[in-house]
Amino acid sequence: MEKPVREILRRLAERSDDRAMPGSAKGMPITWAADPFKMLISTVLSQRTRDESTHAASGRLFGRYDTPQKLMSAPLEEVEELIRPVNFHKGKARAIIEISRILTERHGGEVPKTVEELDALPLVGRKTATCVLSYAYDLDYICVDTHVHRISNRIGLVRTTTPDRTEEELMDVVPRDLWRSVNELLVRFGQEVCTPLRPKHDICPIREFCDLYLEEQEGKGRA
Ligand code: SF4
Repeated sequence: MEKPVREILRRLAERSDDRAMPGSAKGMPITWAADPFKMLISTVLSQRTRDESTHAASGRLFGRYDTPQKLMSAPLEEVEELIRPVNFHKGKARAIIEISRILTERHGGEVPKTVEELDALPLVGRKTATCVLSYAYDLDYICVDTHVHRISNRIGLVRTTTPDRTEEELMDVVPRDLWRSVNELLVRFGQEVCTPLRPKHDICPIREFCDLYLEEQEGKGRA
């Protein structure tokens, strides 16, 4: 069945509002999310890393180096130490110094505003690029991470096997004015309700629209 996307996102926003933490966006302090450089670097640090470790590492790093011009000249060993709680911290330290150098030398110290230019930076893929563009520049992109990919497929908004295809299909079914909301709403929902292993159907405000839930109910009815 065709999904009432606007209603689904409205209900997720309603439950999110009830639990909203002031001053955060994508789980990050709002000052980082609003600064394209800090948003970009934090998102690279967050890859395969828990939020708490990302926040701790980002806070320490930006306390010392808060611009590309400063970070490009930072000693590698010191940056490794500052970001140590994150996974793959050595590779990420090298990458963020190199990103800072490229931003400074090729982009006038600014974070570029296109997926293609961002995608060309070390450890920056499409997901990181669309997150930065939507959160820091308020541009119309759908940032598809593991939560958005999983939940969109469970509900039946899309039928895909990769995040890139999910992004393309979501752009067809989600009204454009809601693209930027998708990531924040689904990430929080995915952490608290529609979790990877045991989704909490019993407290889910959108289960009547969810293919996975409806299929499970149908299966139980047949058993
Ligand atoms: S009904 Fe279950 S699987 Fe479907 S969106 Fe809700 S929590 Fe996720």
